[in-house]
Amino acid sequence: MLDILDLRTLLINCLLICLLFGIGLILYYINHPKFKGIEKIGVGFLIFGCATLLIGLRVYISDFYSVFVANIAFLVGTICIHRGIASFRGLILEKEKHIEQAMILFLIICDVIFTYIIPSINGRIVVISIFVSLELALIAGTLLSNSARQSRHLSSNFLGTVYILFSLFFLARAAFTLNADVTINFMDSGTSGVLPFLVLQAMVLCTGFGIIWMATTFLEQDLRDQATLDPLTLVYNRRALDEIVAHEYSRSTRNKKNFSVVMIDIDFFKKLNDEFGHQFGDKVLKEFALVLCDNVRDHDTVARFGGEEFVIILPETGVGQAMRIAEKLRSKVAESHQSDTTNQSVFVTASFGVTASGAKSDTWNKVLARADKALYSAKHSGRNCVAVEC
Ligand code: GH3
Ligand code: MG
Ligand code: MG
Repeated sequence: MLDILDLRTLLINCLLICLLFGIGLILYYINHPKFKGIEKIGVGFLIFGCATLLIGLRVYISDFYSVFVANIAFLVGTICIHRGIASFRGLILEKEKHIEQAMILFLIICDVIFTYIIPSINGRIVVISIFVSLELALIAGTLLSNSARQSRHLSSNFLGTVYILFSLFFLARAAFTLNADVTINFMDSGTSGVLPFLVLQAMVLCTGFGIIWMATTFLEQDLRDQATLDPLTLVYNRRALDEIVAHEYSRSTRNKKNFSVVMIDIDFFKKLNDEFGHQFGDKVLKEFALVLCDNVRDHDTVARFGGEEFVIILPETGVGQAMRIAEKLRSKVAESHQSDTTNQSVFVTASFGVTASGAKSDTWNKVLARADKALYSAKHSGRNCVAVEC
């Protein structure tokens, strides 16, 4: 069916796409160096371009370049793309590096055998297809990994799925070639000859588009974080808290279940700042927020209300349960400690004010005022304790 396609024209097309996308991604990286790895993907595309050129020149140059170097270049290009995607997602490749080095070595040995000892085009096609298929599967794994610094999104899922399909294609190509008649001339090998170059073009287009989609998603997430998270403690800021509370109000009206609020203030924080310095105070604030986050449920919200004050929203939680949660947090905070510059342990405590949302007329300002009053009582009861205001 694809016999009507001319391999030479396809190769020129492929070369152009590889060069344009390769240069394009490298320029993109120069302009946006924050996106580490994109330049390696660009280099991978340029290597693909060189490999395509060497194959196109098969009639004019020796087998060493058009077979040997071209085959290895294809694998190296794919490895470059893998490295680029891994750095982009903040993943360190350890065992994959050894697999890739072994693959290059094996490919060289197999190409020597199938070019000079037992000449077989099909043998070479099978070997390169298996290795490329394996490398594409590794790329898919890197794209779909959950342990990356950059979380998975529709963009990475899309590219990961596409890479699984490409990997399956090359595996199928290996299986097909294994059972096919002997190929006399690669340049006239029909559908099986042109299909890989169509797939290569699709791969370059999908990767170029996919990586820019991933970069946009990353920027969007970054902007959202900047707008909603407190930069020091990385818990929600006050603005995000107001939005979460509005959402919580409509949910509690719908479910007819109250939510509770815990207001927390670190005890004698000013003294701590004065004694150990502002930087140490910042470190304590960060650790304090971590202790709070580690000891609440996934659907609870921790927010920095200002200075050394935090607010926790506990959805569908009555005041009794909220008191127990606050008491647990109080003791976790009191247990945790920080080391100062002389490696001495510094303990901090905090006071907790608890209240619950009430009737419809109970506005957020009223709830906050009650939580603040409860906190004030806790401070006046000697600090490092929990007080409630209903
Ligand atoms: P109390 O037990 O009554 O709450 O006493 P306190 O010293 O904690 O209360 P106060 O409100 O007088 O002091 C709060 C201090 O928190 C004052 C301010 O310098 C410090 N602070 C506010 N924001 C930050 C911050 O982002 N970093 C650091 N290091 N300190 C901060
Ligand atoms: Mg305060
Ligand atoms: Mg305080």
